[in-house]
Amino acid sequence: MAAKKVYDYLVIGAGSGGVASARRAASYGAKVAIFESGRFGGTCVNVGCVPKKIMWTAGSFHEALQEVKGYGFDVEVKSFNWNTVKQKRDAYIKRLNEIYERNLEKEKVEKIRGLAKFVDAKTVECDGVQYHGKHVLIATGSYAWIPEIPGAQEHGLTSDGFFELEYLPKKVALVGGGYIAVELAGIFNSLGSDTTLFIRHDEFLRDFDPVIGQTVMETYEAAGVKIIKNSGLKGVENNGDNLKKSLSMSFDVGTEGAKTAQTFDGFEEIIFAVGRRAHTKPLNLKVTKIKTDDRDYIIADEWQNTDEENVYAVGDVTGKAMLTPVAIAAGRRLSDRLFGNKPNAKLSYQNIPSVIFSHPAAGSVGLSENEAKKQYGEKNIKIYSSRFTNMHFALTEHKQPTVYKLICAGPEEKVVGLHMVGKGSDEILQGFAVAINMGATKADFDNTVAIHPTAGEEIVTMR
Ligand SMILES: Cc1cc2nc3c(=O)[nH]c(=O)nc-3n(C[C@H](O)[C@H](O)[C@H](O)COP(=O)(O)OP(=O)(O)OC[C@H]3O[C@@H](n4cnc5c(N)ncnc54)[C@H](O)[C@@H]3O)c2cc1C
Repeated sequence: MAAKKVYDYLVIGAGSGGVASARRAASYGAKVAIFESGRFGGTCVNVGCVPKKIMWTAGSFHEALQEVKGYGFDVEVKSFNWNTVKQKRDAYIKRLNEIYERNLEKEKVEKIRGLAKFVDAKTVECDGVQYHGKHVLIATGSYAWIPEIPGAQEHGLTSDGFFELEYLPKKVALVGGGYIAVELAGIFNSLGSDTTLFIRHDEFLRDFDPVIGQTVMETYEAAGVKIIKNSGLKGVENNGDNLKKSLSMSFDVGTEGAKTAQTFDGFEEIIFAVGRRAHTKPLNLKVTKIKTDDRDYIIADEWQNTDEENVYAVGDVTGKAMLTPVAIAAGRRLSDRLFGNKPNAKLSYQNIPSVIFSHPAAGSVGLSENEAKKQYGEKNIKIYSSRFTNMHFALTEHKQPTVYKLICAGPEEKVVGLHMVGKGSDEILQGFAVAINMGATKADFDNTVAIHPTAGEEIVTMR
């Protein structure tokens, strides 16, 4: 074997976290190599945030085309061409892949294509070549999976498969109660598919304050999404053929002691979004001291250190706050600390805002009501909430609710949580997240002059 190549920093995985960290390290003059087994940009660019947002936008346009009738436009939607969107979306993503690659080249980060694995704690092998790193970052992300239920893996798709679909199914099933299942159900329904969402409990979006799940569910049901609660999948069969699928799903439906066997059929596609798993198996971690949890996520401390000296992990592979900006921020802070002479640089995992691209969008920052009660004691928190119809819907036939919930703690009423559902929430939340991160109180919110007429003004006028 040829002599090992030596680098200051080896980065495994060119997704959100890996690319951000590699580029930041290189900007400080470090000699950096990055390994990527798939497409540059990782999950977010290729099978995550970016194509998802494009499909959400397509669905939102369809909704808007219904809404404009109330405003006097005589519009008839003759057809929707899924392939036009898919082709343009794929081309857009290809351009992003190229931009990612070019940016790495500009920063002089060496790109190495292939699946990387450890041969010892500081040596990574890829395609038969060994690379030695003074520091090594694992940013290999996570992947979607399908449960081992008869017929599920054979006939079901994950969110990755959703982005490969060449057509809009007439009738589609989603399985899962997290944000990805809810977002994909919203996209299908808004584009006109007959959509059924199967969830294991009687609520979805259970990682968020309940006001979010309850309001989104109410809006989905009003918009025609069928939500089958307390459902446990038993099996999937295809009653059609591979060219024209007709999938039938058998479930136990109901709560413990009152379950009934039910079959739902006629689905052209079934999409599973039942959680993700860490991309750690191919890394051969057994030659290192790195520890993983029971779902293979790498255990890293608040400095992104693993149990192996000078080996770090950021992003989805750590299983914490699995979001693109988190992976990017953690990766950049780590490089600031290692190569930028900023020994205290690390990411705070508190007050991370996030948005659910449901229809309508929902967003959340800070503590949920239950978390706030636990942290501050029930009598020390005060909840402000507001429910109204956004003026956008003043003349439309169908109206969606807007719900805001502000959670304040202590005598000074520090704002510790903001949860919102309603048109524009995706864009409104970011600015409020800054204020909350800075420790704003309810009085600070009240002292901010409202912008009228907007939905966001309700957040500074709640009583
Ligand atoms: C459908 C969907 C929608 C989402 N929407 C949003 C959203 O709206 N907003 C948001 O913030 N987040 C969203 N996310 C989450 C977001 O995509 C991830 O949190 C983010 O991509 C994580 O970045 P990462 O760098 O940790 O991993 P990734 O972006 O997954 O990158 C990891 C990279 O490592 C590569 N790799 C893995 N193993 C190896 C190896 N052994 N050798 C070489 N390369 C390897 C992979 O090919 C991959 O390119 C979404 C995710 C999904 C699935």
